[in-house]
Amino acid sequence: SKFVYDFTEGNKDLKDLLGGKGANLAEMTNLGLPVPPGFTITTEACKVYLDSGQEPAALRAEVTEHLEALEATMGKKLGQADNPLLVSVRSGAKFSMPGMMDTVLNIGLSDASVSGLATQAGDERFAWDSYRRLIQMFGKTVLGVDGDLFEEALEEAKRAKGVRVDVDLDAADLKNLVGQFKDIVAKETGRDFPQEPREQMDLAVRAVFDSWNTDRAKLYRRQERIPGDLGTAVNICSMVFGNLGPDSGTGVAFTRDPASGQQGVYGDYLQNAQGEDVVAGIRNTVPLADLEGIDKPSYDELMQIMETLETHYKDLCDIEFTIERGKLWMLQTRVGKRTAGAAFRIATQLVDQGLIDEAEALQRVNGAQLAQLMFPRFDENAKTQQIGRAIAASPGAAVGKAVFDSYTAVKWSRSGEKVILIRRETNPDDLNGMIAAEGILTSRGGKTSHAAVVARGMGKTCVCGAEELEVDTKRRCLTAPGGIVVEEGDVVSIDGSSGKVYLGEVPVVPSPVVEYFEGRMHAGADDADELVKAVHRIMAYADRVRRLRVRANADNAEDAARARRFGAQGIGLCRTEHMFLGERREMVERLILADTDADREAALGDLLPLQKADFVELFEAMDGLPVTVRLLDPPLHEFLPDITELSVRVALAESRKDANENDLRLLQAVHKLHEQNPMLGLRGVRLGLVIPGLFAMQVRAIAEAAAERKNAAKGDPRAEIMIPLVGTVQELEIVREEAERVIAEVERAHGVDLKLTLGTMIELPRAALTAGQIAESADFFSFGTNDLTQTVWGFSRDDVEASFFTAYLEKGIFGVSPFETIDKDGVGSLVRSAADAGRATRPDLKLGVCGEHGGDPESVHFFHEVGLDYVSCSPFRIPVARLEAGRAAA
Ligand code: PEP
Ligand code: MG
Repeated sequence: SKFVYDFTEGNKDLKDLLGGKGANLAEMTNLGLPVPPGFTITTEACKVYLDSGQEPAALRAEVTEHLEALEATMGKKLGQADNPLLVSVRSGAKFSMPGMMDTVLNIGLSDASVSGLATQAGDERFAWDSYRRLIQMFGKTVLGVDGDLFEEALEEAKRAKGVRVDVDLDAADLKNLVGQFKDIVAKETGRDFPQEPREQMDLAVRAVFDSWNTDRAKLYRRQERIPGDLGTAVNICSMVFGNLGPDSGTGVAFTRDPASGQQGVYGDYLQNAQGEDVVAGIRNTVPLADLEGIDKPSYDELMQIMETLETHYKDLCDIEFTIERGKLWMLQTRVGKRTAGAAFRIATQLVDQGLIDEAEALQRVNGAQLAQLMFPRFDENAKTQQIGRAIAASPGAAVGKAVFDSYTAVKWSRSGEKVILIRRETNPDDLNGMIAAEGILTSRGGKTSHAAVVARGMGKTCVCGAEELEVDTKRRCLTAPGGIVVEEGDVVSIDGSSGKVYLGEVPVVPSPVVEYFEGRMHAGADDADELVKAVHRIMAYADRVRRLRVRANADNAEDAARARRFGAQGIGLCRTEHMFLGERREMVERLILADTDADREAALGDLLPLQKADFVELFEAMDGLPVTVRLLDPPLHEFLPDITELSVRVALAESRKDANENDLRLLQAVHKLHEQNPMLGLRGVRLGLVIPGLFAMQVRAIAEAAAERKNAAKGDPRAEIMIPLVGTVQELEIVREEAERVIAEVERAHGVDLKLTLGTMIELPRAALTAGQIAESADFFSFGTNDLTQTVWGFSRDDVEASFFTAYLEKGIFGVSPFETIDKDGVGSLVRSAADAGRATRPDLKLGVCGEHGGDPESVHFFHEVGLDYVSCSPFRIPVARLEAGRAAA
């Protein structure tokens, strides 16, 4: 295979091999644009070097061959004393890693060729300045000399002469400085600065290879989730100079505004300068538009080139260019980064310009960008006082008065105050407070902790696991590092997108995109926001092509209605345990404590009408669309008082000799039901099998609600009953038998055919492994990837994210929490095989997913691939899931 490609040989699709920069330089060369000639050493050569510590044997001869060709084209030889060819050696990986890797300019200069360059350029000062720059860059990046030593020498030279800027040093000063720089190199490395041009080049190439594995490059890759084994290409390019006087210069440009997508002239230009001067901010740049007045022919040519690039790449491009004595040269181009809003606008603009089609437009945006556009944001220009940073659990920007318990949250919000609920962690008792609050802040728990899951479900801002903030609910205060104390009533601001916590009010700007999804803003209106129009069009494309249906996780009519506005095609998960909170909790307590059948039946009898009313509302909100109701799941003890509090109360009462019978009984029950591992204990179907009548009551409530909707309201209820935490088909069979009996009774009593279906969650490894058997008794599967991830990895979903996940992420064990993005190789492969096994038993088996992953972009693509019928996610994730399902299918 070949390790070196001339710029004339490559093209933009060879990024794997030539890196982004090399591939695009080749593409521009082939478009006939003015690119300084050069060649690219491939990432394959880099990989060989990184693996073996040696350049591939064939590399040297190939480089020689390409260098000779380059010398022939340029009519001069590398480092030739009287007329030197100089080259730049630049890194360029497949994915851009700005500033992470090395570049060396002016390779080929030496004691011998510096005067040749002076003659060539007719500028003695320029030649010595270029040589000075070479030794400095080479010394630092290739030879590993501390860069400060060069900087100090430079500063000293300026000080000695009494000038402030580099340009005020003349040729003699710079020549003197070159001598000092060479001394620094000799002293620091024990060898002289290499005078042989080819040796300079080879060493620089090797340094670029090595720079792939610097600590900062590794860290950057981990953060950006760029694989560590790609390697970098090296571009060797003949030098052009922007620092040859006022008719020279260097600049950067965008083909359109990366913030709004608007077409126009965007960029900066710096006269008489080299690329690194712009980055270093040594002198002030001027707006690109000013170039027209400075050098009209170059400006006109640049505008022409930008149009060529846009038409060719069919996208926004960013560009680096240099003008050498009135001649324009293109040094780099690539498809440019842009804001989320601009991504949507540019995609539709390009469709309108006929440059791309709708399918391509979908690939130009993504769900993360849409999610970003949906959340209100803190004003970026505001002054802030940050007091902590933790897990960004549910995005958004929330401001309010600090409250430390649910009761106060509700009370204060009823009187019109905005509040932030601050807890160590939340539990189902906090639900009312969470609903009342603008946002939730906890000091414990991870991305799937109660606070995080419920907040995401409600579309409420949440920052969780802020370990550095000490929450004292008794004293109603929070202590931040540095001794800052937030008391009840003090205003705090939390950013659920960054995890940052601020003291005081940070101003917020609302999202027009949510106003649009809510139906409060119309994309068709003449004065509609450009962004809203673009989002509207892109969503329409996505809906047209997607195969996955999108449902909502919702358990009340309000969430269901919102989900429907956001485009939900049904409910994929109604968690009925969320319906047993508040004043109903005591009824459940009575059910659990019932000693006799009569007591138990009375308790169930009280719950039935309430459950039924819940379902009537839900079926109404989702009329005509499927509603999957999951029977009760959480551990029973969650419905009983806290064991410690109750023990203390009983002990105190006993010491006063007035313990009451009820409390004693309660304490006994609480002890009996207490579990070390509640997540692996008495929950889900196990509960239904242990408490007689519980599931039957729920099934009856569902069936009666459906019958009522059908008969009285002439509605179209489409209920699906779902059994949680099934591990074996026997469990399901028992529940099914009872459910079918109850349904038949209700159908007979009301004279209707309810067409209820009964299915199961697949959320335990055993269920996935025996899916073929389980399908015999299930009309549908819904993958519960939260519990499946928990049980497949053996990671407690409530604990690990706040404890050791940070370390795991830092060590690169995974790039993202498996609770956030489906672990394709492990959990995902179980999902795939269970789906296949289920369909093998029952070809018409309906398949969905209702874990948090249902709203995660990358996971949605996976579920599309596996062939599921739908994903179900929290109402606010629905547009994201629709978009990603469209992107997966397009
Ligand atoms: C799941 O386990 O993925 C699921 C949806 O159920 P829950 O989160 O309620 O346990
Ligand atoms: Mg579950």
